[in-house]
Amino acid sequence: MIIGGGAAGLTAALSASKQGAKTLILEGAPRVGRKILASGNGRCNLANARRAPYPGGNDFARSVLAQVPVDQVLAFFHDLGLVTVEEEGGRVYPGCGQAAAVLDVLRAGLARQGVETLADAPVTSLKIIPGGLRLTTPQGSFEAPAVIAAFGGMAGGKLGHDGSPYRLLTDLGHTLIPPFPALTPLTAEKSAVKGLSGQRAPVLLTLCGRKNNRPIAVPCQGEALFTDYGVSGVCAMELARYAAEEQKKTGLWPMLYMDFSPMLGLAPRAFGWLSPRQGDPERNLSAVQAFLEERLHRMPKEALLRGMVPRLLAERLQGQSLSQLARSLAAFPVPLTGIKGMDAAQVTAGGISTQEFDRDTLESRLVPGLFAAGELLDVDGDCGGYNLQFAFASGLIAGKNAAAH
Ligand SMILES: Cc1cc2nc3c(=O)[nH]c(=O)nc-3n(C[C@H](O)[C@H](O)[C@H](O)COP(=O)(O)OP(=O)(O)OC[C@H]3O[C@@H](n4cnc5c(N)ncnc54)[C@H](O)[C@@H]3O)c2cc1C
Repeated sequence: MIIGGGAAGLTAALSASKQGAKTLILEGAPRVGRKILASGNGRCNLANARRAPYPGGNDFARSVLAQVPVDQVLAFFHDLGLVTVEEEGGRVYPGCGQAAAVLDVLRAGLARQGVETLADAPVTSLKIIPGGLRLTTPQGSFEAPAVIAAFGGMAGGKLGHDGSPYRLLTDLGHTLIPPFPALTPLTAEKSAVKGLSGQRAPVLLTLCGRKNNRPIAVPCQGEALFTDYGVSGVCAMELARYAAEEQKKTGLWPMLYMDFSPMLGLAPRAFGWLSPRQGDPERNLSAVQAFLEERLHRMPKEALLRGMVPRLLAERLQGQSLSQLARSLAAFPVPLTGIKGMDAAQVTAGGISTQEFDRDTLESRLVPGLFAAGELLDVDGDCGGYNLQFAFASGLIAGKNAAAH
């Protein structure tokens, strides 16, 4: 019996039924796999061929992915008939560019293997009974010797849940690590981003503690998007969980420094020597200053920004002295005021503690016959396919072992 027909639940069902187990998926929503359809902007970045960074639950995620590495996840999908392509940064997508293709092959596989799905059947209670577990839904109660919890996380607004399913496991003694949104945009003081909404720029982002101005996470490189509330884009979203942790620790939201030197062609200097958890936010100030001085020899000061920075940013920086300009381009300060909530988040940090599950089988150490897979666990990965990959890999493991239970 599987609670939740998402990425983890569907793969778990296929894996369990392949071992000969009679398998039923209880899905709370009218349809299975809604988050898969929304993922990757409708393209579904289903895995990543590169080594996976999991800022939350790294050790646990690594041991799951050591057991079912990315090539096995892809082989599983290829066997179902999905053609995949690898793009920049190791990101793997369906070759046809449609997330629907991923759900199609999963559903076709379930139909072939005779797995039943009951939709509109949210599980509201889970109880231990002799020889197994009993699940209750508005459509009736069900009993099984093994149950896989795969009800996902709270991220993604209506695509996630409201936190109440965690009680299914906490009522049985499991621990909930307080969930918070991750991979979500950063909100900032309005004055810092005023006039810049809609502007995109290649950047290196550094988060620093508000009091000591020391970096609090590995600086992140990519494209940032200014919005009317703050900063979005993959690299900003990847910093959200660190900003939230800093706020929890110190009571203060950190400062974001935006280094625009990649935009000036100074990227090799910017990134060459950077080591994790290091980095003075003004590390490229002298390089940017020298760049501007050299440019000033060739053109009048009024033309300095033309052809160099995006229009709205140029308007914002117009009139600054050369040294102010160098500082603005090397370490543009954006005081953060928070992060966007679960609605805007792509993944839930926190969740059911992984400590209480066997890493090899994903079976509960507290409740024999109970297994867990996917985002409900205290695991969250960076952008790039890592979260679906963890959901699929953990689903495959939980399904196999639940069937053998
Ligand atoms: C907009 C968006 C884009 C994303 N893009 C990507 C991407 O491109 N690549 C990537 O790797 N990750 C992406 N993610 C994250 C990824 O989609 C999730 O981490 C992944 O879907 C988690 O899989 P899961 O099976 O654990 O949970 P889900 O896929 O959320 O499935 C959980 C299922 O359980 C059901 N359920 C909940 N409560 C109950 C209950 N009580 N009883 C029965 N059923 C219940 C839900 O309705 C749902 O169908 C994205 C997330 C969002 C929100």
